[in-house]
Amino acid sequence: MTVIDWNYVAAHIRPRQPESDKNTYGRVLAICGCRDYIGAPYFAAQAAVRTGSGIVTLAVPQCIYPILAGKLNEPTFLPLEADENGKITADCLPPLARRAAILAGPGLGISEGVAQAVQTIIREAECPIIVDADGINVLAGHIHVLEEARYPVILTPHAREFSRICDIPCTGIPERDAAAFAQKHHCVLLLKGHRTVVAGPDGTVLQNVHGNPGMAKGGSGDVLSGIILSLLGQGVPPLAAAACGAYIHSRAGDLCANEIGEFGMTPTDMLSRIPQVLKPLN
Ligand code: AMP
Ligand code: MG
Repeated sequence: MTVIDWNYVAAHIRPRQPESDKNTYGRVLAICGCRDYIGAPYFAAQAAVRTGSGIVTLAVPQCIYPILAGKLNEPTFLPLEADENGKITADCLPPLARRAAILAGPGLGISEGVAQAVQTIIREAECPIIVDADGINVLAGHIHVLEEARYPVILTPHAREFSRICDIPCTGIPERDAAAFAQKHHCVLLLKGHRTVVAGPDGTVLQNVHGNPGMAKGGSGDVLSGIILSLLGQGVPPLAAAACGAYIHSRAGDLCANEIGEFGMTPTDMLSRIPQVLKPLN
């Protein structure tokens, strides 16, 4: 099993090019949030901005759009008609075409409408996609939809989310189970934990050995999925985008732990350290 290090990251992320513009760095779409989860879209979108995306578009239910628009300066917004509970449905999805990458999941909540919406995104996306959090939860019982995806799919569960969708005999050994699932479903599986593992459809398994318990806080995973969204949109191949994302996220967490300590550090603090982690790529 390969350990993800800085050399791996530097080999997979292209430096900024002098003759470039915002289109060079990807127009990415994040479909996130519901009436009860307003932080998740904030973290995911801001992480994509801090990782260097050209344009980040945030599609959120109309009811939370004004709050997020007041907090986020860089993303553009697509407010969505939602159901009476403030959750998205398959009927209210934004246009999926002409995106460099799509993230579905953080803070969507759980409902039949969300389940249909996430399956529609997986079937109809015309670019690589990352599915996280409630996007994964609503795939329980519907995991076969991955066979209908036309572009690579990355799933980023933590152990509990993985147990909900897992349809292989589990050994309890994260690297083995992640590899078996990724091979069975032809996807990239990033299994989060204090030692995150990333498995590809070809049997490759990578491990991240950085990070700290200060990262065990609500919102931390949403930062990770936003980083991976951005890397996918910048053209980093799916397995490498997931692996580099895990590394960048954990190094940002380690900077926070060193500077302010594990107790009080927050996902917001982690967002502000992403640029420092990436700076040596300049
Ligand atoms: P989530 O549970 O979706 O919010 O994701 C939590 C994130 O924090 C994942 O990227 C985990 O790998 C990371 N994390 C949580 N606890 C630890 C820990 N004790 N050590 C290192 N990373 C952690
Ligand atoms: Mg999460």
